[in-house]
Amino acid sequence: MKPPVFEYRDPRSLDEALGLLDEHGDDSSILAGGQSLIPLLNLRLARPDYVIDINKVPGLDTIEVSPGCVRVGAMTRIRRLERDPQIRAVAPALADAFRNIAHPQIRSRTTIGGNISHADPSSELPGVLAAYDGRVQLTSSSGSRWVSWADFFVTVFTTTRESNELLTAVEFPTDQNFNYEFEEIARRPGDYPLAGVCTGISLDGGRVRAARLSAIAIADRPIRMTAAESALVGVDFSNAAARQAASQAAAAEIHPMDDEHGSAAFRRGLVSTLVNRTLDRLAGVSA
Ligand SMILES: Cc1cc2nc3c(=O)[nH]c(=O)nc-3n(C[C@H](O)[C@H](O)[C@H](O)COP(=O)(O)OP(=O)(O)OC[C@H]3O[C@@H](n4cnc5c(N)ncnc54)[C@H](O)[C@@H]3O)c2cc1C
Repeated sequence: MKPPVFEYRDPRSLDEALGLLDEHGDDSSILAGGQSLIPLLNLRLARPDYVIDINKVPGLDTIEVSPGCVRVGAMTRIRRLERDPQIRAVAPALADAFRNIAHPQIRSRTTIGGNISHADPSSELPGVLAAYDGRVQLTSSSGSRWVSWADFFVTVFTTTRESNELLTAVEFPTDQNFNYEFEEIARRPGDYPLAGVCTGISLDGGRVRAARLSAIAIADRPIRMTAAESALVGVDFSNAAARQAASQAAAAEIHPMDDEHGSAAFRRGLVSTLVNRTLDRLAGVSA
């Protein structure tokens, strides 16, 4: 199908883009990589009066790796991020997650800002953002605000971004006391996952000082599995039974739904397996 009729705008500066959002925010869609928006337009699931293409706005495709933080501009393409050696060095689980998004051709267009703004509950990056306790920068003509992942994702395809705001950057704190692993299970490489888990562990003398576990594709937004996190704190991390208990706690605390891709019980089993595998890898046991 062809998209519905819309007015096309391609601002050449951030100020111009924000001015257009002030004027048309409620009746417009922002076009970034277009890998989700264009299908939505063609299927007529989105019918904006205006499409505001931000590809010509300069300064939004930045990668800044500083001690304790990876900050990425909204228009940075996933393909560039997955190849960035600095990100791989400080946040290998994040680099692994990039490679799980769709296929190389799609990743060469997909932007980090578009991927996170789209708020698909099966998307990898929102889950990684949750495990890293990350945040997003929302900018309007009145200024910028930083919003934590937990306050950003509301439900399927819905965030707390106001219609006059542009997501301008994403920040992943990289506390060097934490080591992370990301893993997902998908039917075919490049598909959206049936379930995915990002696990971060901070150790103190062999015992778990803090744990961060997130899951995707099992709820209407990315979630943290706090019962599993609590089950891990204080345990001897070399104890396989303790790690296994955490994976059982994760399976018990989630509430996946049945859908055409699998039953709730099936997804519960996937999450338990993924938690177990990521914990084993972090413990130095190959999984
Ligand atoms: C075959 C296929 C497989 C895919 N598999 C996966 C997968 O496994 N995992 C995954 O995560 N994704 C997957 N995707 C989705 C892909 O990653 C999308 O491109 C991505 O979700 C949206 O990014 P985009 O830059 O293309 O944004 P667009 O399609 O341009 O925009 C998406 C939405 O975000 C809004 N938006 C874009 N940028 C901003 C901004 N800066 N501020 C505010 N709002 C903004 C748009 O208005 C729109 O509503 C797949 C897509 C395809 C076609």
